[in-house]
Amino acid sequence: MLGRVPAKATITLLGAAGEVTGSCTLLQTPRGRVVIDFGLFQGSVADERRNLVVPDIGWSTIDAVVVTHAHVDHCGRIGMLPRLGCDAPVLCTKITADLLPRVLKSSANLQAIRVEEWKEGTAPIARVVDPPPPPSTQPQRGDVEPPVMYTGRDVDRVLHQVHGIAYDTWHEVRPGLRIRLHDASHIIGSASVEVAWDEDGGVTRRVLFSGDLGPHQGPLLRARPALPEVDVVVMESTNGLRDVPRNTAAAEALGEVLKRVAARGGRVLVPTFSLGRAQLVQWRLAQLARMDGLHGMKVYLDTSLAIRAAEMHGRNPDVLAPEPQRMARAGEDPLEFSALFKVFNRRSSLKIAAGTSPGVILAGSGFLDAGPVLHHLASLVSEDRNAIIFAGHQLPNSLGHGILHGARLIELKEGVLEVKAERVHLEGYSGHADRGDLLQWLESREGGSPRVLLNHGEQASREGLASMIREKLSLTVELPTKLMPITV
Ligand SMILES: [Zn+2]
Repeated sequence: MLGRVPAKATITLLGAAGEVTGSCTLLQTPRGRVVIDFGLFQGSVADERRNLVVPDIGWSTIDAVVVTHAHVDHCGRIGMLPRLGCDAPVLCTKITADLLPRVLKSSANLQAIRVEEWKEGTAPIARVVDPPPPPSTQPQRGDVEPPVMYTGRDVDRVLHQVHGIAYDTWHEVRPGLRIRLHDASHIIGSASVEVAWDEDGGVTRRVLFSGDLGPHQGPLLRARPALPEVDVVVMESTNGLRDVPRNTAAAEALGEVLKRVAARGGRVLVPTFSLGRAQLVQWRLAQLARMDGLHGMKVYLDTSLAIRAAEMHGRNPDVLAPEPQRMARAGEDPLEFSALFKVFNRRSSLKIAAGTSPGVILAGSGFLDAGPVLHHLASLVSEDRNAIIFAGHQLPNSLGHGILHGARLIELKEGVLEVKAERVHLEGYSGHADRGDLLQWLESREGGSPRVLLNHGEQASREGLASMIREKLSLTVELPTKLMPITV
């Protein structure tokens, strides 16, 4: 039964079982019940409608909801808690607690806008025209009404439940049940969640939920701490089959693109996600600025969430990698530089899009499917002096994926446009641990031989990572099925 305190502890994946969105896991222990993450399913409208189908786990009797980080695939359904009758504390790091109001309000706002657009038939157009993509891959937006999971009012209510807690400190949820957050170094404020509970006979059991993990040591955030000694690890497997290059070549490649685009008087568009990816690119641009490597170009940061997230870095030196930390402690914001301009409203954004002087524009969304990136794209895509930099993975069937893979004609609100801008794919800006990082994290644990349950990865990634863990580390690995409780 999912809605009762059991005699033996169980873990149940309610989402992100064999896929990479909709993270949500229920831990039931004899001492109380905790939900880890409550994220959005993302992708097609059909995927998004799954957000409305929430398993009945007796939400009104949950003791705590813990949010690992502020990406919407982990926190985006927190706004539904009031409608589910759940008034439990929502626990997360203090940095995540600072980011959540903005993330949830913008999610509620987006849901309302999309329904309005659907009713009026004004949904953004962002598609490849030539070469014509197979009809089955075309988004069917317009056929199905986009779902509304919650409103701004729901968000206001749930924000009263949010409590930021310190890293590395035990927090009692109920007598005999406690949690501790460890830095996951994935985005600022991200955490892995350790849950411990007391059982009869003086036995303490411990489970650790990885959340999304960052690389072992990235350029901007501090190194991940070692995995503590626990009985069970519930671990993400997003990059379970991939090795991500992290050498300095990626940084140098960005400088090279700026140099050649500046020489031909063009502009650079970097479609980006607001949390994580945007800060990694901004850090690299800040480094280039300090080495006089922007070639006279201004940099426009056109996402308010990214502006906020960048500020959090300067204010939290403890969670930064050595170089940015040294700067922050010396009173210098590591992500600031004089050529950086922050764009706070649509009017300024449109004005920048209408300009022609050389510059670099960071704008969302990262998949080029909505948001301010679309009017920047319309303004610069058809001139060969410009460039579009894809700093990471593109969702298949997205416009970003199509352009990166050679689309010649695209359609936007402004009409059908020829793609003449240079297309650049830069690796090395991922905030996710790759296969080697994931293995290293398990291998360098503080002790014990934990059972490993894999979630948050496509099925092939889960299977590939499971084989590697069994082979190299001789640990027991399981791939839980959604909604099937596993006794731990
Ligand atoms: Zn994430």
